[in-house]
Amino acid sequence: MNTPSSSVGPFDHQPRTRIVFGIAAAARVGELARETGMKRVLLVTDPGVVAAGHAERVRQSLDKAGIATVLFDKVRENPTTADVEACLAVARNTGLDGIAGLGGGSSMDTAKGCNFLLTNGGRMRDYWGVGKAARPMLPLIAIPTTAGTGSECQSFALIADAETHQKMACGDAKAAARIAILDPELTLSQPPRVAACTGIDALSHALETAVSKKRNALSLAYSREAWRLCGTSLPLVLQKVGQIEARAGMLLGAALGGLAIENSMLGAAHAAANPLTAHFRLAHGQAVGLMLPSVIRFNAADPATARLYDELDETKAAGLAARMEWLLNLAGMPRSLAECGVTPSSIPLLAAEASKQWTAGFNPRPVGEKDFLGLFEAAFEPRGPGAP
Ligand SMILES: [Zn+2]
Repeated sequence: MNTPSSSVGPFDHQPRTRIVFGIAAAARVGELARETGMKRVLLVTDPGVVAAGHAERVRQSLDKAGIATVLFDKVRENPTTADVEACLAVARNTGLDGIAGLGGGSSMDTAKGCNFLLTNGGRMRDYWGVGKAARPMLPLIAIPTTAGTGSECQSFALIADAETHQKMACGDAKAAARIAILDPELTLSQPPRVAACTGIDALSHALETAVSKKRNALSLAYSREAWRLCGTSLPLVLQKVGQIEARAGMLLGAALGGLAIENSMLGAAHAAANPLTAHFRLAHGQAVGLMLPSVIRFNAADPATARLYDELDETKAAGLAARMEWLLNLAGMPRSLAECGVTPSSIPLLAAEASKQWTAGFNPRPVGEKDFLGLFEAAFEPRGPGAP
């Protein structure tokens, strides 16, 4: 009998985030913040979320619970150190005792970044790595309005250096949200392009964590359920906008993907995506999506990894890249790097930078600069139509 591949690998997992899931769960934010002992909360969000009315509804719920709100609503996509500084300027000297991040991964990452600087001082660069915050941090409530990054279930803030655009993963157990509120209704307002990009990102998290070198029995349980939920829900979200069950499946799948990352890290597609975002400003989900089919084919050449893909999806390792291509086409993702303005002459630089990314070290098949050259070249070929 075959031993399941999940049975190896030690883990030490301390659940840090209480997860409150359900339709209209966001209305409970005031009650939950009060339970946590908050009296004055920094609400970190972006203009789109304000326009959708979500920020005002959260503020009203907090107000009803007797909690004052300090608003920072200028979050931008792929937040930089400058964005965190701008948030900090609003937060400083206001007597805060809690933070709420409302929006996509960028809002939650900006909220976490601000929490580091507000409570521990210094600059974001000081927290690049894991466990660099010496002092306690403020309790954070994370309320995602997109189903993608899984930041609500992670202890990492991804902040780019404002000058070099290098992404710094700043992780600390204390930075993890105390409570994540998952309300599928909030994700109905996502523009279709955002739902597509973040949905592909959520799928990529399930896929990369399921095979990473750091995977273990627990992370695999999260990865596989995230893959099942996102794999069945994303096509429905893309085809019939507004279906609440599909939105709920995506939101929960994305959060489980975040828990998988917390335990298993990522792989070569994320390592390759970061320099693409830094140099060509591709959205994170687009960049990861462009690289995934070639990364799957590269990894599947390793028999042990192929077996993990076999266990993950009914199409097995042999059909997985084509299934991913089908999903990418359904999501309207770009078909090749050339289509996104990436120049062939930039490949050596992209490959060099990708090979130095932290996440590359967790890819199941060793992946060096030469391998990344091949992966980027393969991503220049227009994708096939794929198969469901
Ligand atoms: Zn990602």
